[in-house]
Amino acid sequence: AHLYGELRTNAAGLDLTDEATLRPLDRALQAAAAHEWTAAPLIAGRSPAGSARPIHDPADLRRYVGSVIESSRTDVEQALSTTHAAASAWARTAAAVRAACLERLADLYEQHRAELMALCIREAGRTVPDALSEVREAVDFCRYYAAQARALFDTPRRLSGPTGESNHFSLHARGIFLCISPWNFPLAIFTGQIAAALAAGNAVIAKPAEQTPLIAALAVRLMLLAGIPAEVLALIPGDGSRIGPWLTGDSRIAGIAFTGSTQTAQAIQRHLAERPGPIVPLIAETGGINAMIADATALPEQLVRDVLQSAFASAGQRCSALRVLYLQEDVADTVLAMLRGALATQVLGDPGRLSTDIGPVIDTTARETLEAHATRMIADGRLLARAELPETCAHGHFVAPAIFRLDGIHELETEVFGPFLHIVRWRAGMLDEVIDAINATGYGLTLGVHTRIESRVRHIAARARVGNLYVNRNMIGAVVGVQPFGGEGLSGTGFKAGGPHYLLRFATERTLTVNT
Ligand code: GLU
Repeated sequence: AHLYGELRTNAAGLDLTDEATLRPLDRALQAAAAHEWTAAPLIAGRSPAGSARPIHDPADLRRYVGSVIESSRTDVEQALSTTHAAASAWARTAAAVRAACLERLADLYEQHRAELMALCIREAGRTVPDALSEVREAVDFCRYYAAQARALFDTPRRLSGPTGESNHFSLHARGIFLCISPWNFPLAIFTGQIAAALAAGNAVIAKPAEQTPLIAALAVRLMLLAGIPAEVLALIPGDGSRIGPWLTGDSRIAGIAFTGSTQTAQAIQRHLAERPGPIVPLIAETGGINAMIADATALPEQLVRDVLQSAFASAGQRCSALRVLYLQEDVADTVLAMLRGALATQVLGDPGRLSTDIGPVIDTTARETLEAHATRMIADGRLLARAELPETCAHGHFVAPAIFRLDGIHELETEVFGPFLHIVRWRAGMLDEVIDAINATGYGLTLGVHTRIESRVRHIAARARVGNLYVNRNMIGAVVGVQPFGGEGLSGTGFKAGGPHYLLRFATERTLTVNT
């Protein structure tokens, strides 16, 4: 077996042009619309009563999706004490048994695919293809970390040494992992963090994004059904700024996996540094101000297609999304004209319809922040193109996608998390300055390159400080085990999700030396 375990096959896709495939999905969407979804704190399999907050479809706020009971201080305290009590038994459970639970979960996700997709669409505004990728990625995470846990955990590795000594090296669970996940991948990232922590033998307190507790609650129900002991996994929905500190400040938390904003990751890091108790790891996957460099040799049609997907798919709400396109001067006018035409063909609207390219943004705050950015750009005379919002978008959190002009990436101080593309022109001979400017943002998540000059690819790869570099393709949609995902600098701590070392971050290492 490979040292880290391998994912031999990724989850299968679906033919979305096939009627037979679409029928169950349509039925699930209708059933999801009729169903009263609920989420509540789930601690040792039990939920407290309490007053519930309604959740509405971001694509149409008149549509009620379900309700959530948010966690109280008592719930958090109980989650800490139950998971703490259960952690060591789970850590001693054979990795093969833990892995089998995750493999059952992967199967359950595939069986419940339509229902999971429907909720991703209704609660999080994911489009149909996005919702499908989300289930596939969640399935992949389960199987990938399960395979790694089998390869890494059960058998200590014998190391050679002086005669008369035996040396063994082994990996062990840390204790309770706090998993804090984002709304933009409410199933995939939520599942990936938890699956990794559980595979490594940790107990988990899961804090889903406040915008997407319903999908998290459905996922946790399936996790328990898959055989993960209820005491080992607590779900704590609620507002991160309120409940986060109760958890990050508690010395029973043995590690944190966080995906979200750079500012929140930094706040968690400060909090961890100040609390009494053990020194524990923070695995943070944060934002990026991601660029793509296109030179005059790029194939225009391919470039335009890849830019469109990278910048506007998922309404730009991916941390991997393209924000700043560096276009070489000689081709800039041609490419821009094509991009304008392509933008006008994008269909905005209900993410549940297959014809929709761009769905809503997640909430009022996101919409207002994005509109404020657009207003500033327009006032500065930087608008290059903007799509029209159709009537059907009137009741949801929609933002019309746009293209703006910049003089350099330095003009964006923070990540703009939505369907906005910025274009900078560069002249031949200035490539190194472009790379330096991209590096100078301090972020280092994804970078796209479109060129037919091979030596240029090597040159950029050697200089760019980014986690994921994509050449002559789009720069989103990293696949588990194939494109391990994650950045450096302000973009995160590593190790990469869906990569060979991720699980090690959830474990502690021990060496046993016996003088024989
Ligand atoms: N892994 C995702 C992708 O490659 C992005 C994850 C995120 O947005 O947090 O598109």
